Amino acid sequence: MGTEVFPISLSVDRCYVIRDEGAIMVDGGLPRQEKAFLSKLSKTPVRPEEIRLIVLTHGHFDHAGSAQAISDMTGASIAAHRLDVDVAEGRVAGLPTPQTPWARAMMGILGPVIRGKIGRTSARVDVVVGDQGLSLSEYGVRGRILHTPGHTAGSLSVLLDNGDAFVGCMSHSGPPFRLKPDLPIFADYPDQLRQSWDMLLRLGARRIYPGHGDPFPAEAISRSLRSGSWGKTTRTQNAGTRIIAR
Ligand SMILES: [Zn+2]
Ligand SMILES: [Zn+2]
Repeated sequence: MGTEVFPISLSVDRCYVIRDEGAIMVDGGLPRQEKAFLSKLSKTPVRPEEIRLIVLTHGHFDHAGSAQAISDMTGASIAAHRLDVDVAEGRVAGLPTPQTPWARAMMGILGPVIRGKIGRTSARVDVVVGDQGLSLSEYGVRGRILHTPGHTAGSLSVLLDNGDAFVGCMSHSGPPFRLKPDLPIFADYPDQLRQSWDMLLRLGARRIYPGHGDPFPAEAISRSLRSGSWGKTTRTQNAGTRIIAR
């Protein structure tokens, strides 16, 4: 049997449950989404206790927000890249770097939220992924976790052997971010993000599953990468991350 993908929409987020021999999940949604998650999962054939790993594509609160609650309910471990652990665990506020006028307008609204209580996540990361990534074979999934920095320094993607790629915010393909598949409106390190896309495409990513919006074929991104007008702001210009006192 092939690898099955079950998209789970939680508010503006798209999380994914992936089932092969074993089951994993990509991203944990905004805070307080665990009940919605269980209810949506109950409409799939996957039982909560089958999920063995929650891969955080990065530490931002809209991806790590309910990860701990979902981990508590399912028994799944939480994986994040070493460079995003502090944000995922709530010691640092991850303020994304806008790359478009709309993103700058959004940050006017989101900035205080991210700096405040709602933007703090308290996931406990069990599996710290290094720059070399991690095979998913021990979780019964034919694929691997790759370090794909750019949206944040510690962004991860899951690339299945069949070419399905779960990329978090390496792309935005739906409201409220973008109207169609494209590069993300936020990225801390735009040059790294381009390189990460080059790597994913070289490694055979064919169908892209973003963290916000609908899946799409990889060619849509190849076109955006060639257009060259995206990614003029660097993290230092934006002043980046702010440390929160506990
Ligand atoms: Zn993000
Ligand atoms: Zn996001």
